Amino acid sequence: MRGFARRQSVESAIAWLDAQLRPLDPEPVPLRMAARRVLAESITSNVDVPGFDRATMDGYALAAESTEGATSYNRLPLTVIGDSLPGRPFLDHVGAGQAVRIMTGAPMPQGCDAVLPAEFVDSAEATSTPEASRYRARASRVFAVAAVSPGKHVGRRGEDVTQGTVLLPLGRRLRPQDLGVLSSIGVEQVHVYRRPRVRLVVTGNELLPAGSRPHGHCISDANGPMLAALVERDGGLVDFPSLVPDEHDAILDSLYTEVDVVIVSGGSSVGVEDLAPTLLASHGELAVHGIAMRPSSPTGFGRLEHRLVFLLPGNPVSCLCAYDFFAGRAIRALGGQSKMWPYHSIIAKLTRKISSPIGRLDYARVRLARESGFGGEVEPIAVAGASILSSTTRADGFVIVPADSEGFAPGSEVEVWLYG
Ligand code: AMP
Ligand code: MG
Repeated sequence: MRGFARRQSVESAIAWLDAQLRPLDPEPVPLRMAARRVLAESITSNVDVPGFDRATMDGYALAAESTEGATSYNRLPLTVIGDSLPGRPFLDHVGAGQAVRIMTGAPMPQGCDAVLPAEFVDSAEATSTPEASRYRARASRVFAVAAVSPGKHVGRRGEDVTQGTVLLPLGRRLRPQDLGVLSSIGVEQVHVYRRPRVRLVVTGNELLPAGSRPHGHCISDANGPMLAALVERDGGLVDFPSLVPDEHDAILDSLYTEVDVVIVSGGSSVGVEDLAPTLLASHGELAVHGIAMRPSSPTGFGRLEHRLVFLLPGNPVSCLCAYDFFAGRAIRALGGQSKMWPYHSIIAKLTRKISSPIGRLDYARVRLARESGFGGEVEPIAVAGASILSSTTRADGFVIVPADSEGFAPGSEVEVWLYG
């Protein structure tokens, strides 16, 4: 066995990777399938929404001047000449002293510039003259008991979306409400970046399929389910047919899968059992191997024809960390998303120190000591090494100690990336 002759910096490894990353080609998808996909076009509306002036309250559509001076002591009569309902407009002109019963969302009739809310209308006749009872019978005379100003309770054409405005920018990861807005402007198909296809090659002769009860000297595959979920989180399409033994031909075959990205778990270092780096170097390009970070230092990546290939250490914490630093970054970028981590960060105070040698980046798991949020405290989780996957389950997130830092003293404020 021999160690890495030289480990390269995280920055230089990322620089090589970033130079490989372009979004995949766009594809059209129906709106119904577009949630969480990333727009490969910007969307400009070519209609106004709403396409007509509409009532924003239930009440009476009228010319505001018909209510001028109305109070409960000075009730002004209005002749109700019809109804306007959503989808069923009133088509005649409304003159002075006239009104149309209207519902929220219904089109404003011609001649109306305001809606008098129903609570400012009194339908009781003051006296019972023969004329009044005639009106009541037709329910066509009411009284305004308050004035409204022009424009009151009217939603103007285009107030929601104005024709010609850019509604959604290229690169937008579509939210459910975006689909609603797109539908409202008459879009039923959008162009989104193709999702990267990602083959998981989980190697290890000691591994049992995920979820098997561990027995003898065998262990259950922890990385397969974890990586599948990470890839899906980042928008990739997972292809994970089965575990792969630590055998030359089996690994080589799985590298040649028709996908955009291959992620190999296990056997990524420089030992005799570590076949993948040599295979990638001889059949393709092993651009990066051995990185100055902990965990995950025995990480490698490169290309095999058009594919990006990531060789991640089998130790589950290393595997998670290396995925987040490198493979996840690539999958997000190929799918048109931001390369940044999909984690929120907070600033918190360390309860105990984190130390780390100069020249190596450290990924330190931490737990929120008090409630999360700005001003909270975090404590580093003291664990021996990268094989303790449950350290990531106990942790709320992680702190990065950059290569040029010796760590953080107790009480220092650090940026904590919270696991989603
Ligand atoms: P390797 O990188 O293949 O040398 O593996 C390093 C350590 O991680 C060994 O103890 C392996 O048994 C363990 N390991 C490798 N792959 C997995 C996996 N998929 N799930 C859980 N542990 C693993
Ligand atoms: Mg192994």
